[in-house]
Amino acid sequence: MPLTGPVSHGKKFFCPACGALYTVTYKRGEKKEITTAKCVVCLKVMAETDSASVPVYTLIHRPEDA
Ligand SMILES: [Zn+2]
Repeated sequence: MPLTGPVSHGKKFFCPACGALYTVTYKRGEKKEITTAKCVVCLKVMAETDSASVPVYTLIHRPEDA
């Protein structure tokens, strides 16, 4: 059974550097490429992936709001 079902959403991710809260969803890329996700709050690299599933980080809470 191919993995073509709807992408689960709402996976939580905390920036390891500043604690900002994101949700992560994945979109399907055309090809494998290295994607680097940077925190929009502290601008540090949170994660790197090299698969065809491209993670999209959506900021929910800045650490100042917590
Ligand atoms: Zn951060």
